[in-house]
Amino acid sequence: MREGVIDMETKVIKVNPINPEEELIKEAAELIKDGKLVAFPTETVYGLGANGLDGEASSRIFTAKGRPQDNPLILHISSLEELKPLVKSIPKEAEIIAERFWPGPITMIFERSSLISDVITAGLDTVAIRMPKHPVASALIKASGVPIAAPSANTSGRPSPTQAEHVIEDLYGKIDMIIDGGATGVGLESTVLDLTSDRPTILRPGGVTLEDLRPIIPDVTLDLSIIKDGENIIPKSPGQKYRHYAPKADMIVYCGDVEDIVKAINKKAKELVENGKKVGIMATDETKDKYQEGMVISVGNRRDKRTIAHNLFNILRKFDEKKVNVILAEGVEFQGIGIAIMNRMKKASGGNIIDV
Ligand code: AMP
Ligand code: MG
Repeated sequence: MREGVIDMETKVIKVNPINPEEELIKEAAELIKDGKLVAFPTETVYGLGANGLDGEASSRIFTAKGRPQDNPLILHISSLEELKPLVKSIPKEAEIIAERFWPGPITMIFERSSLISDVITAGLDTVAIRMPKHPVASALIKASGVPIAAPSANTSGRPSPTQAEHVIEDLYGKIDMIIDGGATGVGLESTVLDLTSDRPTILRPGGVTLEDLRPIIPDVTLDLSIIKDGENIIPKSPGQKYRHYAPKADMIVYCGDVEDIVKAINKKAKELVENGKKVGIMATDETKDKYQEGMVISVGNRRDKRTIAHNLFNILRKFDEKKVNVILAEGVEFQGIGIAIMNRMKKASGGNIIDV
């Protein structure tokens, strides 16, 4: 449970993630309609929801999370009919993507309609919209009868929550309700795709990959700031400029051939342990037996990177719990879901990536 003052009562309810109980969803929806804050599971990470048409309710999200005011929120809908009133127009690409990937882990950026408050968009002319697939998220939006504004349900800057326990850790006493629907699926936030610029551009990589999108929108591209930092690279997604997903420990990410990574991590771990540091090693199933020092945890399987995405944030929180001083993490290939994994690792480590 979170340290410090507990200012309000937070009700935690358990629901069936596949077949959510109607009366429990109704209770949560009443809170949303009433301008309150409800955390709920989605297939990406847990979201912190408020009535997206109520500027005052949505602004409470920023306070609870400690989120910078200039970082806009994503609106969540449960059917295509709900999209129209929120946007100025629906580009052809959006129709095709919605048809193929909604409900699912991709958010699209549209020109906003006059219904949308500045609190949601942080003053931008555009609005981010997603239709989640998780039965609890979908049922909650339907029962509320409004789009639900929902960023990840963590304290701003910390690893995103993939279990209700993570939400309790960060937000207990700061929000009205937490719906516990077990662990989330993808484990990383949605892909954010901008359809308002010249070329469809991925602003944040996520569950729907570049390779998934290419066959249906061949000119889709990746925003440069996903890969690089630098003075000349101005992020288009306001959220990209913040240090994110960060564990309390220092973190170093090693990229290259797996054998070289193992060698480099072993060498660094030895050096750190000799200097009295508590070291955590974020290994993979294939490598976890090859380390001699430190607390070794496997984040998943290199041959099935979706397992790494699923576990990443949970393992970062585990290392925090164990109070390690330094996390030495294995990087993965920059391909498929690996792009999203490396993007989160880059942010979590503050760009501390070593090519071996
Ligand atoms: P989260 O807070 O984890 O849900 O992240 C939401 C992401 O969507 C952040 O990176 C935001 O900056 C991005 N986002 C939301 N609305 C917009 C928008 N209108 N234009 C560009 N990025 C947006
Ligand atoms: Mg977030």
